[in-house]
Amino acid sequence: MGAKGCVNVLLKLLVFQGLFVSRPQEDFDFFYFVLQWPGAYCDTSRACCYPTSGKPAADFGIHGLWPNYNGGSWPSNCDPDSQFDRSQISDLVSSLKKNWPTLSCPSNEGFNFWEHEWEKHGTCSESVMDQHEYFENALKLKQKANLLQILKNSGINPDDGFYNLDKITNAIKDGIGFTPGIECNKDPERNAQLHQIYICVDTSGTEFIECPVLPRGSCPSQIQFSKF
Ligand code: 5GP
Ligand code: 5GP
Repeated sequence: MGAKGCVNVLLKLLVFQGLFVSRPQEDFDFFYFVLQWPGAYCDTSRACCYPTSGKPAADFGIHGLWPNYNGGSWPSNCDPDSQFDRSQISDLVSSLKKNWPTLSCPSNEGFNFWEHEWEKHGTCSESVMDQHEYFENALKLKQKANLLQILKNSGINPDDGFYNLDKITNAIKDGIGFTPGIECNKDPERNAQLHQIYICVDTSGTEFIECPVLPRGSCPSQIQFSKF
């Protein structure tokens, strides 16, 4: 084969690599990393149930890592062929039970919640992470954020007290360097309470970023931080 033939083969190899070996371009713009306050999930007219391993710690728990578009909409259930497979995350289960506890009824270990989140949201980020990486990244993000400590350091405690929404937002902004989205729900007396915190994450699933779009929050200016 002459020099020209060699170059041709090399070029074909490069094209082949580009098409089949490198990962496809991600098809979403960023992630919401969403944490739930268990006290607020449980303090509504709908019941909650503790997981079979017992009452979770009084800490924020992971709700999910959700691919999102800059415009505010999001993809969901992207790959019915990629079913949740608990054998792929067996090394993460004890950490998931602690950091991503389920509170829905009836009581269960948590696999239903993790399966739901993988199938609805995780399958939409398969271009950048597999199932193990999806759960591992979420666990690492929770460690990195340490939201409860950040709030406590600013005198914001889960003591059923009412706190200023901007004070909560700014405490988290100072703690992690980026503005979070705060979502409220209502307790049976119709008080608005801190329910979920949204932090934006880059498409690699590892770095916090400023949110391209904040979720609609539904919180008044004073909100309750319920006990758990
Ligand atoms: P809700 O109606 O309770 O706010 O949301 C129901 C579910 O829709 C969430 O648990 C989540 O799976 C999905 N969802 C709601 N808002 C968003 C959003 O802004 N981005 C993404 N990616 N999913 C969302
Ligand atoms: P999403 O709102 O993410 O679409 O759906 C959450 C689903 O996971 C619901 O079907 C809900 O019943 C189930 N689930 C199980 N445990 C929890 C939990 O602790 N919190 C929330 N928000 N949903 C849970």
